[in-house]
Amino acid sequence: MVYVTTLIILLVLIAVCILRTVRNQNDVSQHVIWVLVCVMFPLAAHIVIYNIDNPFVCKTAYTLYYIGVNALLFFLLRFTMSYCDFKYEKTVVENALVLSLGADSVSIILNFKFRHMFDLAPRILSDGNLYMGVVRLQYYKIHIAVSFLCVLICLAALLTKMLQTTRFYIDRYLVIFVSLLVTAVWEAYYVIPGRPVDYSLFGYAICALLIFFFSVEYTPKTLINHVRKIVVSTISDGLLFFDMHRDCVYANEKCKVIFDIKNNDLKPIKDKMIKTIGISEEELRGHVSYKTRQTIKQDDGDHIYDIELHKLFGGNGAFIGSFVKYSDRTEEIERNREDHYNATHDRLTGIYNAEEFYRKVEKALIENPEEEYYALGSDIKEFKLVNDRYGKDIGDKILIRLARVIEKSSNKHTFYGRIANDKFAMLIRKQDFKEDLLLKNIEKIPKLEIDSIYPIIIHVGIYEISDRNIPASAMYDRAFMAIAPIKNDITKRISYYDDALKAKLIREQNLAIAIDDAIKDGQIVPFLQAQVEKDGKVSGAEVLVRWIHPEEGFLSPGLFIPVLENTGAIHKVDRYMWECACKILAKWKKLGFGDQYLSVNISPKDFYLLDVPYELKTLVDRYGVDPSKLRLEITESIVMEDVDEKIATIEKLRSYGFIVEMDDFGSGYSSLNLLKDLPIDILKLDMLFLKDTRNPEKTEVITDLIIDLAKSLEMPVIAEGVETEDQVRMLSNRGCDYFQGYYFARPIALDEYEDKNGLR
Ligand code: C2E
Ligand code: CA
Ligand code: CA
Repeated sequence: MVYVTTLIILLVLIAVCILRTVRNQNDVSQHVIWVLVCVMFPLAAHIVIYNIDNPFVCKTAYTLYYIGVNALLFFLLRFTMSYCDFKYEKTVVENALVLSLGADSVSIILNFKFRHMFDLAPRILSDGNLYMGVVRLQYYKIHIAVSFLCVLICLAALLTKMLQTTRFYIDRYLVIFVSLLVTAVWEAYYVIPGRPVDYSLFGYAICALLIFFFSVEYTPKTLINHVRKIVVSTISDGLLFFDMHRDCVYANEKCKVIFDIKNNDLKPIKDKMIKTIGISEEELRGHVSYKTRQTIKQDDGDHIYDIELHKLFGGNGAFIGSFVKYSDRTEEIERNREDHYNATHDRLTGIYNAEEFYRKVEKALIENPEEEYYALGSDIKEFKLVNDRYGKDIGDKILIRLARVIEKSSNKHTFYGRIANDKFAMLIRKQDFKEDLLLKNIEKIPKLEIDSIYPIIIHVGIYEISDRNIPASAMYDRAFMAIAPIKNDITKRISYYDDALKAKLIREQNLAIAIDDAIKDGQIVPFLQAQVEKDGKVSGAEVLVRWIHPEEGFLSPGLFIPVLENTGAIHKVDRYMWECACKILAKWKKLGFGDQYLSVNISPKDFYLLDVPYELKTLVDRYGVDPSKLRLEITESIVMEDVDEKIATIEKLRSYGFIVEMDDFGSGYSSLNLLKDLPIDILKLDMLFLKDTRNPEKTEVITDLIIDLAKSLEMPVIAEGVETEDQVRMLSNRGCDYFQGYYFARPIALDEYEDKNGLR
């Protein structure tokens, strides 16, 4: 009776374990479920065998029992290998074992017919009950051998794993190993001598329950304790534990550093802790938790900590102690400060960047509604050229120096920032602003580094802030716009944004908008200015654009070309002028004046907006014009960027047969070096610029030098802006080939030009 009751209790227990395992899914739980299910078969079979005497029923139960054992072994193997992290499923080993277990199971079933494995024999047990025991026959040994082989493999796997794993995990494997071993020995005790009743069955059940417990329920406490200890002691936060009497019972390493505790004496910590939190001992006694941020002096400097004091209460609500956490925020705060600095300051000069500067301006205007302010914007003339010619390092140095000059000339009410490349901006109170001081400061900059070789010219645009409702960026747009009228004027440095400028800008804007219609309506017309050879013969002319505006009247290019260049519409005018030139050349050719040439202007912007070689080639082809009769005037500023690409474009134009002229040489920052590198045919010398200098001897020397250089490069020279006979003589003597200027002719309309030069 005890036997059966025990078996039933075990069955129920196992059923409960199965349910728990189903709920608690992990890597091995699938295998555990099957092990538990399979162990139920032998148990159930034994309840039947114990209670029923019918030989057939008993034989069937025994058959089920043995097959159940085989299934159990099958899943036990899978479980063990998975539990020990060994690759087993679908390996040769598994296939061999499955084959053996399968063959043994077939043999068990065939025992019904052949009786080669076991037979039944009634026994009287010690309690007087009749019991159908087994008589093990010849082939039973195979079943034993297969079973023990499987168990042996499981034991070997567990043993191997135990040797490999750390001590924290050993009990997971050890307990299962021992119980399996005990069960195996127990089984052997009954089976090998052939004892009738096999109590080792209990071993199976206990083994299965242990498997369930260790693989599903158990979490290794020693490991967790150990991990907890490591985490607490190595965590970057400082941790302190106080018991219910508010005595410090634990301080981790970090806390010992914070409180400069050299030995293990934790007593002084309490007072130090109270000081850092800034609460009284009385308050510490209360049951409230605290959070605060404090700076603590340490050996390596000040540290900022977020400090949290937590009170701990037991299950019944009784106070059991407290812990304090010190989280070091120093680095994070520094980083945030740094990030904020980077986001608001210009990397190169260290002053405000555009966004931050505008923010500061808007804030200052709101906070001081009564105060009057000027918005100043500064721009370095041709700064790109400085970079190109002297290198970025020199350019950077100039910008940094400029920032320092601005810094020095500011007071605490002045804000300044770098808006873009060479553009700086300032917000200055009207009462602090002195124009002569500003001029003096601007003049300081050229005295830096490279002034002897290169004049650094700074222009400042000023907008008196009259409209506070527009964004700060718009105010500074106005300040920078004020520079436009003096941009090319080296004698003026400061310019104000006023109503006249505003009106002018609006007018220019309107011109840019109207350009398409103007071209269509024939308002854009070519004027021609003769180019004369040494002997006075007119061999060609430069085509200069004029706008006959219905309202504004006669507009010279100086009024609209820069506007169109800025708004990106210049290419429309240029392409139209080129077409006009081609039409004129075609007409002259037809009339027998095919030897005349025309020279057209190409804006540097055209190279970005058009495929210049393609456009020109298409035009000359369409009008049947000889490309050598269409001369192309480019300025050296086109090679300020992408030099190689531009050189290739010029080469292409020349390969089509066009003649390329370098316009305005002598003005701006003409580089003799460039002349050597650029593939151009004719040099056009700008007399207007040379005439301007206060040093005529120098002018002659430079003119000499340039003409000599051009000659040595076998380049014809044309002088433009020739106004006097003296100039003609001087230039002739020096070997100049062509002349253009008011001395010979002004730019005139086509009809007039043709009349004058007999081209009709
Ligand atoms: P530029 O190409 O250097 O043209 C020469 C300018 O000097 C012309 O001014 C001409 O009228 C002027 N000039 C000629 N001889 C003398 C002289 O003896 N004394 C003085 N003081 N000036 C003289 P314009 O026609 O007003 O053109 C100004 C600039 O506008 C041109 O300078 C050129 O850069 C640009 N431009 C003119 N037409 C076009 C065009 O169709 N396309 C492009 N992109 N630019 C053009
Ligand atoms: Ca020109
Ligand atoms: Ca020119």
